[in-house]
Amino acid sequence: MISLKSTLTLPAAGLTGFETPLTEEEAAIQASVHRFAKEVLRPLGRELDRMTAEEVVAPGSPYYSLFAEFAKLGLDPALLAQLPPDMAVRIESLIGEELGWGDAGLAISLGCAGFPLQMAVAAGNAELVELCQGRIGCWMATQPDRGSDNQIFDMARDWPAGKPGNIGNLTAKVVGDEVILNGQSSAWVSNGVIAQVALGLICADYGDGFYDENGRPHGIALIIPLDLKGVSKGKPLDKIGQRSLPQGEIYFDSVRVPRRFAIAERDNYYGAVSSSWSFAGTHMGQVFTGVARAAFEMALQYCHERRQGGHPLIDHQMTRLRLGDMLRRVETARAVARRSLSFARLSPQTHPYATASAKVTVTEEAMAVVQEAFRLFGGNGTTREYPIEKLLRDTQSSLIEDGENRVLTMRLGLLAQQLYAEGWANN
Ligand SMILES: Cc1cc2nc3c(=O)[nH]c(=O)nc-3n(C[C@H](O)[C@H](O)[C@H](O)COP(=O)(O)OP(=O)(O)OC[C@H]3O[C@@H](n4cnc5c(N)ncnc54)[C@H](O)[C@@H]3O)c2cc1C
Repeated sequence: MISLKSTLTLPAAGLTGFETPLTEEEAAIQASVHRFAKEVLRPLGRELDRMTAEEVVAPGSPYYSLFAEFAKLGLDPALLAQLPPDMAVRIESLIGEELGWGDAGLAISLGCAGFPLQMAVAAGNAELVELCQGRIGCWMATQPDRGSDNQIFDMARDWPAGKPGNIGNLTAKVVGDEVILNGQSSAWVSNGVIAQVALGLICADYGDGFYDENGRPHGIALIIPLDLKGVSKGKPLDKIGQRSLPQGEIYFDSVRVPRRFAIAERDNYYGAVSSSWSFAGTHMGQVFTGVARAAFEMALQYCHERRQGGHPLIDHQMTRLRLGDMLRRVETARAVARRSLSFARLSPQTHPYATASAKVTVTEEAMAVVQEAFRLFGGNGTTREYPIEKLLRDTQSSLIEDGENRVLTMRLGLLAQQLYAEGWANN
């Protein structure tokens, strides 16, 4: 039905662009998270960006203020669970976008910090919930020799015939009521060097070897307190982007974890991998929508300040075209991020290749926006005096984080192949 207007007005546009009206509750949450992003995350992220990786995690570092400041917002995920599902999705999306707008590295750090707790809640395990509560968490899925291979589920289509799968450098032996861990995580584990508890996704031997009949590794999803005997940490990773996010290896030397700390064993393992990866991927989508928006806003402001060709940049048609293209991409990123979040939260049968593909779209759109913003700043953009170069570095990392985008896109094609074989789109 046409909604007939009597006058032409500017469109309704809020922090999150061309949005249908927010409820009072949604608007209040968005405003308070935006304030937190502006007053805490932005300045803290910039400060940490200029420190060495060691300084970021040293005792007394301003990094640690993040958790106390975030707690003041009172955003309890349990409250989200009580809301109507569509509203909970929108609020989760609004929160994630504001956090990313503030600082990508800190937004990811906050997401990972609560990851083990969220899995314990999902598993309905009160002991694990208590164990994770108030502790900084991390999601430990990749290892030095098991990066993209960590995403392989279909051995027949995605792995050389007759060869056993890649079990990586960190393995579990399940013996009686204990799980014994040996090896190390990759240096990329977000929060790795400071985490107090991990959600580990680890290839496991239950006494009959590491592989099933198709060569696919068995696994265990396990909550691991990182103060157990035999756990040690590597050096904080020095990297170009998301420098406010502490990353680093976690080493395990015959670490004995009670088996009751398992979230999922053997037959239920890949379901848990899938759920946790979808959780991570959808958070990435909201966060990098926020980064794209931040870059667009910085460029829009700069184009009103900078004069060339006898006019402010904004008065040139070519500049408007570039800003219009950026805004269109921000809207695309938001729409895709939110759709994938809805799918992950509301669909009875989700799949991480589907949610990961949204992470690809969002981060590629974010990269296009940030790059255009960077160019609009001219030479100024290349100096550390202006904030846009940091967004370029932060976004570059996102193309690999949570799965490298090309390999993820390939796996979306693999998903299409799998679905077609089951009759989907075969009209
Ligand atoms: C900022 C950041 C945060 C991260 N946070 C975490 C975290 O919290 N927890 C965690 O466990 N990990 C984390 N990671 C690790 C991340 O998941 C991996 O870096 C990613 O999955 C890629 O693995 P890799 O780096 O080993 O690259 P590789 O897998 O070695 O890939 C290298 C290149 O080879 C290509 N390639 C790989 N496999 C194939 C194939 N089968 N066919 C064709 N080409 C292929 C890829 O596309 C890529 O271009 C993080 C990474 C970054 C950058």
